[in-house]
Amino acid sequence: MQILVINSGSSSLKYQVRDTQAEEVLLEGLIERIGQAEGGAASNPVTDHAAALELVGAALGELRIDAVGHRVVHGGERFSEPVLIDHEVTRAIERLNPLAPLHNPANVLGIRAISAKWPELPQVAVFDTAFHRTLPEYAWRYAIPAELYERHGIRRYGFHGTSHEFVSRQAADFLGLPGQSFDGVVAHLGNGASVTAIKAGLSIDTSMGFTPLEGLVMGTRSGDLDPSILVFLGRQGYSAEQIDDLLNRESGLLALSGSNDMRSVVEAAGSGQQAAQLALAVASYRLAKYIGAYHVAVGGMKALVFTAGIGENSAEFRALVVAKLAALGLVLDSAANAVRSKAARLISAVDSAIPVLVVPTDEERAIAEATAGLVSRLS
Ligand code: AMP
Repeated sequence: MQILVINSGSSSLKYQVRDTQAEEVLLEGLIERIGQAEGGAASNPVTDHAAALELVGAALGELRIDAVGHRVVHGGERFSEPVLIDHEVTRAIERLNPLAPLHNPANVLGIRAISAKWPELPQVAVFDTAFHRTLPEYAWRYAIPAELYERHGIRRYGFHGTSHEFVSRQAADFLGLPGQSFDGVVAHLGNGASVTAIKAGLSIDTSMGFTPLEGLVMGTRSGDLDPSILVFLGRQGYSAEQIDDLLNRESGLLALSGSNDMRSVVEAAGSGQQAAQLALAVASYRLAKYIGAYHVAVGGMKALVFTAGIGENSAEFRALVVAKLAALGLVLDSAANAVRSKAARLISAVDSAIPVLVVPTDEERAIAEATAGLVSRLS
């Protein structure tokens, strides 16, 4: 099947056309600055998602499309697997907007724009939260009054699920294990970052919670902090919007080092800049603590897996994290860790108690396969 994969952000739209049999990317592109008339291409601004879809349509030319797969960030408690989209499903995704105000509205705009342009084309939603549907309640509950969960849906959901699921299957394959007997810890380290505890192939805990803010130190997000800080800031006169901006867009590596790009942080640390060294120490320490905790949660991991932009490319950051896990008997092979490759690979030493892997993620491929699978089962 030929699947158009859409990852629609508030001001951007990423697309790929994949042939799921040949496992091939036929076309890909990124449309940016949607709705921002003052953006770069001022002569031809992309006014909205419908206009962006016109550009995608032009790029497709004569290419046949059998179905569309959308990355949808928040599936709430209802969506625990990919679903065929109809009006009711679109409205249900829209009702989750308050839980993911930056993401779900854009996803809905993408879905509606496709329905308007190609009404006959089957569309499938693949949810970032879905893989975490198997979290036990003791892992997803916050210790706050039940009413907040019942009335507002305040609980831990987890994100990056498509990537964690794909990467954990690839890691199990690499180790020659059946997926359902894989116990491991997967660290998805991109601009957003999360780590997941996988037991018998299922997610049993993950570092992101109610929103993608909880957990690790990220490019511009703080990750875990004492919630009283928010109350304190509120009392100091910060508005909800200011606190939201502060924690989501002005924190993390950016706040600690002045850059949200791991390459620059590593470079600056290497040239002796203390703020950058501190940023790496805070981020790697936070991640190592989570990995130690998840090693316990899964009853002993059979592998530690790194993925996404930083996980796949930053040998320096991986080395910092693994060095902090020496108590678990983890040892890197520094030559293997330094290898640059697009393939899944082992980077631990032969005497490491637990193998450490780098496994490239491919969310578009996972979305295309889930979409093709669902559409062919239904037709
Ligand atoms: P992603 O969100 O998965 O695209 O990952 C983005 C992050 O990956 C950014 O922090 C980049 O700095 C980081 N990254 C990409 N390439 C490299 C590299 N060669 N070395 C270190 N970090 C990298």
